[in-house]
Amino acid sequence: MKDKVLIVYTGGTIGMVQDSNGALKPFPLSHIYDLVPELKRCSYTIDTCQLDNIIDSSNMTPDFWVNIAECIEREYDNYDGFVVLHGTDTMAYTASALSFMFKNLSKPIILTGSQLPMGMLRSDGRENLICALELASCHEAFIPEVCLFFENHLYRGNRSTKISAENFDAFYSYNFPSLAKAGINFSFKPHLFMQQNGQPLEVRKNFDRNIAVLKLFPGITPQVVNAVLHAEGLHGVIIETFGSGNAPTESWFINAMKEAIGRGIIVLNVTQCKAGAVVMGQYEASCEMERIGIIGGNDITLEAAVTKMMYLLGTYPDDHDHVRHSLQCSLRGEITVNQSRLS
Ligand code: ASP
Repeated sequence: MKDKVLIVYTGGTIGMVQDSNGALKPFPLSHIYDLVPELKRCSYTIDTCQLDNIIDSSNMTPDFWVNIAECIEREYDNYDGFVVLHGTDTMAYTASALSFMFKNLSKPIILTGSQLPMGMLRSDGRENLICALELASCHEAFIPEVCLFFENHLYRGNRSTKISAENFDAFYSYNFPSLAKAGINFSFKPHLFMQQNGQPLEVRKNFDRNIAVLKLFPGITPQVVNAVLHAEGLHGVIIETFGSGNAPTESWFINAMKEAIGRGIIVLNVTQCKAGAVVMGQYEASCEMERIGIIGGNDITLEAAVTKMMYLLGTYPDDHDHVRHSLQCSLRGEITVNQSRLS
């Protein structure tokens, strides 16, 4: 029997064509073979599924993540792999969210998109789509995880980040190597793939949106920090700190954090640097933070930190000890626990 891949279309630039006046509009996915006739030569069956509401991914919300996940969950046993067409702006957030939602995944889910609409002559969409489909149906290397394919690279979804609003190579994974590269052949790094554990698939669908991201900058005022920490209903905050996780040592800052932690708010420390990790206690500027109970985010991306915190608070609302513990563990390969594997 032929392999089967399902394309799930959520919106974004990739699905746009120009009408006779030159305006961009979404195209019906059922016409994909007209737009990309090369797909007729694929050795596997391709089916398509379009979400009811096609969006620019800047409108992405946890409810959409659930819609995407439910579409894949419904068809999970009927397909060998899944390709999600998604706008680039928040693709790394969705890839991260899906990675946490699908526990014990045993099939590839590959997100892709494009910088230029598929209906334009120089579009990068056709290449990205065809490669993502080939990878989702690939027998040479079986990739049981949520990935993001863009401009010749297959990245672990929850390690990727959008780095360019201009270039075709718009994504990168700073703290984890790419899982595969497309050249004349695909070259794979199977030792980096997540391993299947043989357990039945579980799809977790609860997200707690009551979190905040507080980016530090020299001169940040107590008013701004306190306004964020006292946002109504807040359950967690991610502080984007300097370098290897450093923040002001002034007492007003430490006291504000300590008071928030005392009110049950979970505080996660993530670095503003694109590459490298938070090492709490390396400098005096983070020792005190560690002492008052701020959690170190290691080398997690902001996208993975946001979705992981929403996922954990939504899944274990009454068990903050478990949330705190899990933030320090690798659930789906989103943080580095064993450096020796990274080559
Ligand atoms: N604004 C678009 C989106 O993220 C950009 C893109 O698709 O590249 O939906």
